[in-house]
Amino acid sequence: AKNKGKNGYEIFRPEMEQRAHKRLKLEANLRRALQNDELYLHYQPQIDVRSGRMTGVEVLVRWTCEELGTVSPAEFIPVAEESGVIVSLGRWVLQTACRQAAAWRDAGLLDTIEHVAVNLSACQTRDAGLMDEVAALLEETGLPARLLELEITEGVLMENVHANLELLQKIQAAGIHLSIDDFGTGYSSMSYLKRFPIDQLKIDRSFVSGVPGDGAAIATAIIAMAHSLNLSVVAEGVETEEQMRFLRDAGCDVMQGYYFARPLPADQLTALLTERRLW
Ligand code: C2E
Ligand code: CA
Ligand code: CA
Ligand code: CA
Repeated sequence: AKNKGKNGYEIFRPEMEQRAHKRLKLEANLRRALQNDELYLHYQPQIDVRSGRMTGVEVLVRWTCEELGTVSPAEFIPVAEESGVIVSLGRWVLQTACRQAAAWRDAGLLDTIEHVAVNLSACQTRDAGLMDEVAALLEETGLPARLLELEITEGVLMENVHANLELLQKIQAAGIHLSIDDFGTGYSSMSYLKRFPIDQLKIDRSFVSGVPGDGAAIATAIIAMAHSLNLSVVAEGVETEEQMRFLRDAGCDVMQGYYFARPLPADQLTALLTERRLW
């Protein structure tokens, strides 16, 4: 029983206080993270399984806090969203990613790469100035719009279908690619997917890790649906050869996961691009 009279609350209070305290501490540290240069980016290869080539890269933010050590984005991104820090953090990620991608391109290293994908948070999708900022960044860095891909989760997309349709149309008009992240965990309908200007679906890791068992039917269904809508499909979180084979045979276009490569610091990704390694 949750509530045992007035004493019941006292059992729960210390734990709740601890959690609230930890969160405040995280938030205070996060506010300083940008100025202190504690944030950096990792880049994870996306492999076209038929050619064995790296055709994409996903940008993932990392934080090594002076006080707290390494904190996972799964933990600090939600705090950044609730505290508003995400506005400057998201801007920094986009700016750093575009500059890095432009440097790779100028060095002739992106000829097999179709997209460099950046995750957008819920707050960023609601920011009316976002696309002007992105346009200014592309202009500043000289990065062609078609090389940039934005990832929006299915959950965020479906939260406000009407407002997001407008954003998606702006993204498309700018020539930027759009990928729906964590697909299969939200509640989109075929009719919305048809109406939205989307390029790609990313099968959520929870289904990929269930392949070839529980996740197989869902992964296969997502691939079939995506192809019937003329969308390409990426599987995220591919960890084993068995998963890779199953998804490849099911027609999945692109894969990403520890089986191929972990998210890597920029210099290690530069080395992979230079090597033109085949998987
Ligand atoms: P996500 O966008 O779904 O990113 C995929 C996550 O799976 C990443 O976790 C990645 O490191 C991890 N991953 C990749 N391959 C494998 C694998 O084979 N096995 C397993 N177990 N994991 C794999 P990460 O980097 O910890 O990021 C977690 C989440 O934080 C991301 O999930 C994304 O929602 C968010 N995030 C990360 N960077 C950013 C960012 O720059 N902006 C925003 N708004 N969100 C971000
Ligand atoms: Ca993502
Ligand atoms: Ca995911
Ligand atoms: Ca694409």
